[in-house]
Amino acid sequence: QLYNQIQETKGNIRVFCRCRPLSREESSNGCATVVDFDAAKDGDLGVLTGGSNKRTFKFDRVYTPKDGQVDVFADASPLVVSVLDGYNVCIFAYGQTGTGKTFTMEGPEHNRGVNYRTLEQLFSVARERSDAFTYNLSIKQTSEGSHHVPGIVEAKVDNINDVWSVLQAGSNARAVGSNNVNEHSSRSHCILCIMVKTKNLMNGECTKSKLWLVDLAGSERLAKTDAQGERLKEAQNINKSLSALGDVIYALATKSSHIPYRNSKLTHLLQDSLGGDSKTLMFVQISPSEHDLSETLSSLNFATRVR
Ligand code: ADP
Ligand code: MG
Repeated sequence: QLYNQIQETKGNIRVFCRCRPLSREESSNGCATVVDFDAAKDGDLGVLTGGSNKRTFKFDRVYTPKDGQVDVFADASPLVVSVLDGYNVCIFAYGQTGTGKTFTMEGPEHNRGVNYRTLEQLFSVARERSDAFTYNLSIKQTSEGSHHVPGIVEAKVDNINDVWSVLQAGSNARAVGSNNVNEHSSRSHCILCIMVKTKNLMNGECTKSKLWLVDLAGSERLAKTDAQGERLKEAQNINKSLSALGDVIYALATKSSHIPYRNSKLTHLLQDSLGGDSKTLMFVQISPSEHDLSETLSSLNFATRVR
């Protein structure tokens, strides 16, 4: 309705590409940038693949390293608000470890990302609509993958402060429960689910909808020298679940008659929020560095396929 400005002209799947800045270390090492943003405004991203070769990838949005959390959320926000209109929504951050998935979804406390802004916006729109609807929000934070990330929480929330204390409790538990949260989260999917119960005060009708915010496990391929034992099995499982997710989104985008939801736990979990009239947004996160070129191309190919 009012907030549902994203038109259904090309289906319900959007892919936004976000490139992080060069790190201080990369800059001081004179690291070259292989990404060009000359046509970023049109959704085109150029990648210098060596010599004078350039490949161009097309997305629904391209964010340069200068674009901030506010710019990103401005484009995600109509999708987020559509959960209050009864739609199920999934938002994913995909990419190599170190490209900004957690920055985009969680963000630092002084510069928060999609998760927090989403909840803030849901509460504010719910308040605006309170003469016509009552909304009941609850959140659940969980993980899926070969590494269990501690800090699973589930709670009913009435305002953004509630949410913050619940999420804070979760991340405290995470900090206590593991020596290296980043290491774990690069090997599992961190999932925040927002469940919304809506009551229409005019006709008494009740509906339920869900919004999934998923910081996916790192998509990097394993170096050949590391490819042994548990580490290999783990990497294979992650790759399997990411490609299963890609297969599901691709099948939906191409309107295939068979959607392979059952090929991974993640797609099975998200089944009722992927497809039908659900909406999907994938952030493909990349590094600008020449040293990450092959992972960057692999992420961009993945994202191009699902778009
Ligand atoms: P990932 O979750 O994909 O492993 P992170 O979100 O941890 O990556 O980001 C890696 C580093 O890059 C962090 O220090 C983060 O603050 C920084 N970073 C990522 N994206 C941005 C951005 N758009 N602007 C500024 N810093 C960023
Ligand atoms: Mg991360």
